[in-house]
Amino acid sequence: MERKTVKLQGFSIDTFKFDEALEYAAENSGQIVTINPEMIQAASKNKDFANLINNSELVVPDGIGVEIGLNILGYKVRRIAGIELGRALIDRLSGEPVAFIGAKPDIIKKAVENLKNEVKNLNVVYVQDGYFKDDEKVLNELIQSSPRLALIALGSPKQELFIDKAKKKLPNTIFIGLGGSFDVWSGVVQRAPEVYQRLGLEWLYRTIKEPQRFKRIFPTLPLFILKVIKEKFIGV
Ligand code: UDP
Repeated sequence: MERKTVKLQGFSIDTFKFDEALEYAAENSGQIVTINPEMIQAASKNKDFANLINNSELVVPDGIGVEIGLNILGYKVRRIAGIELGRALIDRLSGEPVAFIGAKPDIIKKAVENLKNEVKNLNVVYVQDGYFKDDEKVLNELIQSSPRLALIALGSPKQELFIDKAKKKLPNTIFIGLGGSFDVWSGVVQRAPEVYQRLGLEWLYRTIKEPQRFKRIFPTLPLFILKVIKEKFIGV
């Protein structure tokens, strides 16, 4: 399967449907970036982060803002929630070695415990919380465990930078950055009800539940949309 990418604010984004993205991811290796407007904004100000995104093996439009942006440019692309792609990869790669890095110690413990109950043949080879000081130590332990799939949930851009280092040492591993997914899998944080998800309003639900997120979303989301409208008519 070939990648079919389009440009949004200078970033190459894959246009796969969910099942295609899953298939492509499962048949290859490297870094999967689950991109959203906050990441695009951060990367526009940081060349290294921008290069890292453009050198990733798969970039799926996670945020609704990215879906809206692509639609404004005329690409009918649907968002792919990282948490769902990560979960589908776990099922798809059943029996193969999986590593988990990220979230608070009690959260990741509970998340892995829940997954073990849900997924038959889940082959967990490495579990590490996300509040470590010694990157090299964790990197070496991860290399030793040699996972086929590594789920990294440290928040952005920490997880992307960690994956960038790790993928060079583990060329046959699929890495995916998953933000707050372990918090959801642990049962501590609830995802928005389906109606919010369907309407693309998951961000609104999360902002109501965690008002401190407000600062992160506003003014990023409206500014991002304005920039894409400018891109459509004038260019980046
Ligand atoms: N996290 C972590 N190490 C850190 C900072 C954050 O493991 O040094 C975890 C945090 O516990 C949470 C996730 O990373 O589980 C970030 O969640 P958030 O919802 O903020 O992700 P984002 O929206 O940035 O993708």
